[in-house]
Amino acid sequence: MLPSFLIKRIPKGENLKKIRKLLDPSIHTVCESAKCPNLGECFSKSTLTFMVLGNVCTRNCAFCGIEKGKPEEIDLDEPQKIANAAEALGLKFVVVTSVTRDDLEDGGANHFSKVIRALNDKGLQVEVLIPDFKGSHSSLDIVINANPRVINHNIETVPSLYSKIRPMADYQRSLKVLKYVKEREKNIYTKSGFMVGLGEREQEVFDVLKDLREVGTDFVTIGQYLPPSRNHLKPQRYVPPEEFDRYKEFGESLGIAKVFSGPFVRSSYQAEELIGVEVPRHQGT
Ligand code: SF4
Repeated sequence: MLPSFLIKRIPKGENLKKIRKLLDPSIHTVCESAKCPNLGECFSKSTLTFMVLGNVCTRNCAFCGIEKGKPEEIDLDEPQKIANAAEALGLKFVVVTSVTRDDLEDGGANHFSKVIRALNDKGLQVEVLIPDFKGSHSSLDIVINANPRVINHNIETVPSLYSKIRPMADYQRSLKVLKYVKEREKNIYTKSGFMVGLGEREQEVFDVLKDLREVGTDFVTIGQYLPPSRNHLKPQRYVPPEEFDRYKEFGESLGIAKVFSGPFVRSSYQAEELIGVEVPRHQGT
């Protein structure tokens, strides 16, 4: 039985249908593919997160609802399709993510760059939620040089749970991705996010926030893990709102500009609200 703070009123579906009609059927959203609990709310506000590079991932994170297996051909028209869709939806701030494409030499960085440039050409601000590109600086440079407003890379969980939750990723590598972006380009906001309720201890959450602060992360999102289907990992527990408040307080006391922390918070939830948040200049980053 879900606790009351995890009961959510889902807005009626009219806008879902309208948005889906507006979107080219070949355009994917992570909202739909990952079965996000906020889909109804976000679509009712005409916000969504586009997912590029297909609908099949080369990795197998235990918490993720996205299909795993043989990835699809890259749709070379996708950058323009997404820019046109964003314009049609009247979006001013656009979030783009992708599956992880370890099968590609550049991990998909060039395709990300084309999507960012197509959106920038329409005068839209862009947040990209990127994979780790296996830590490749040349792939990260390709994305950085396309000048997105925010580069987001999720740390997803605490290091002690990586082998169970995120076996093909590496905690230190993900920290290095965030550090490299901030060192290479200070004017790009960096952001990261993770889930709780997977078996982590509170001290581990504080330690992750310290690590993210250490690498100059500007924004952090923390949300409750909720299984995308019955076949996925069960939550170890439902973290109460007051604990999310403690994480926010602690993270912001370290100097992280904004910590979005709550049961339904997700990586790109209310992403556009972060733009305009005063970001203190980091010493040495
Ligand atoms: S890398 Fe991303 S899309 Fe792939 S399984 Fe993990 S969370 Fe899902």
